[in-house]
Amino acid sequence: MRQCIAVVGSGPAGLTLARVLHRHGYPVTVFERDTAPDARPPGGTLDLQEGLGQLALDKAGLLAEFQALSRPEGQAMRILDTDGTVLRDWQARPDDRANPEIDRAQLRDLLLGPLDVQWGRAVTEVVPKGTGGVLVQFADGGQEAFDLVVGADGAWSRVRPAVSSVTPHYTGVTYLETSLDEVDTRHPDLARLIGDGSVAVYGVNRALVAQRNSGGHAKVYAQFRAPLDWHTDLDLDLADAEAVRSSLLALFDGWAAPVLDLLRHGTAFVHRPLHVLPVSHTWAHTPGVTLLGDAAHLMPPLGAGANLAMLEGAELAESLVTAGGPEELDEVVRAFEERMWARAGRWASITTAGLERLVSPDPSEALAVFDRVQPS
Ligand SMILES: Cc1cc2nc3c(=O)[nH]c(=O)nc-3n(C[C@H](O)[C@H](O)[C@H](O)COP(=O)(O)OP(=O)(O)OC[C@H]3O[C@@H](n4cnc5c(N)ncnc54)[C@H](O)[C@@H]3O)c2cc1C
Repeated sequence: MRQCIAVVGSGPAGLTLARVLHRHGYPVTVFERDTAPDARPPGGTLDLQEGLGQLALDKAGLLAEFQALSRPEGQAMRILDTDGTVLRDWQARPDDRANPEIDRAQLRDLLLGPLDVQWGRAVTEVVPKGTGGVLVQFADGGQEAFDLVVGADGAWSRVRPAVSSVTPHYTGVTYLETSLDEVDTRHPDLARLIGDGSVAVYGVNRALVAQRNSGGHAKVYAQFRAPLDWHTDLDLDLADAEAVRSSLLALFDGWAAPVLDLLRHGTAFVHRPLHVLPVSHTWAHTPGVTLLGDAAHLMPPLGAGANLAMLEGAELAESLVTAGGPEELDEVVRAFEERMWARAGRWASITTAGLERLVSPDPSEALAVFDRVQPS
């Protein structure tokens, strides 16, 4: 007997879950707050790992299409000292499929494919009704009932309160993200600095990281330790790009001019204070509701979040298609949660320790992190 399943959120977690269900001919309803796929800038590039995000795409039957779109050369990584000296320069082989990059918009479109997402349906609350299913309430005043509601609605999940009272806390590290357009033609020096993949510069409690996206775009992340309200102390209007730029140039004062050009030529700035959930976030299993992706285990953005979100989506879908009646459905969700918590807990520990070392008082710590994971 097929159950009525709703997925809240069309990020990597929700779309992968829905796409694998769809592949197995299992009906699913996806609710998304955004009014259209391109309602907001999609953000930068994601590296999808072989045993995680790529495995999920394989389960969705999309691995070959991913391989055609992704950029193995994007795995290249260069690390500079704040005076511009090149400390490390790793290049990727064209056949290295361990961790290729893909733009978020490309991944979203790949996963969306034939899915029929209900856009502009912001969920406000999810109320489990015991044996009577789960009620989903919407910002437009409507409500609908389902057998299972999966919260794939990210960091500030509106589904999470149905199972857990925990909310994300600030890590003490803030990112300011900016973009470079037509980098090869308009900023050839910066294009050379960034190379095919990423360039990173680590200083005391701050870092600058630039990553090439497809189509001549690049994203630049100024990363620094600061109180959450650092900008109010400075009376800084975050919507004022020139004021933010000046403030960042002051913060990174003394760094090599070519490195600071990454900030000088960036367009608008997006403020991303990094929040996380506790490393081992779990909850008392609640029939009819579960979470996956950032809603379940928000962690520092060090290459794991989307990968885990996608694998969880694929694994949950594969389990759901095997379930018969409501009791079996509940059993497979319970087993899925146990597996997710164990794996996500390991990654949350790794990425939390990684953030401590990458934006740290001792920049040599950051170098040591890369020396451990990069091929010599
Ligand atoms: C700067 C940066 C770089 C990163 N780089 C990487 C990387 O290289 N590799 C990697 O694996 N991870 C990376 N991450 C982490 C990754 O982006 C997240 O872990 C991933 O997007 C989580 O996917 P998700 O589907 O769980 O949530 P999200 O991507 O946040 O998607 C949630 C969706 O739910 C929707 N939604 C929210 N609330 C509601 C509501 N109330 N009703 C309906 N819909 C709602 C949202 O609009 C959104 O579409 C990075 C993160 C950042 C910030």
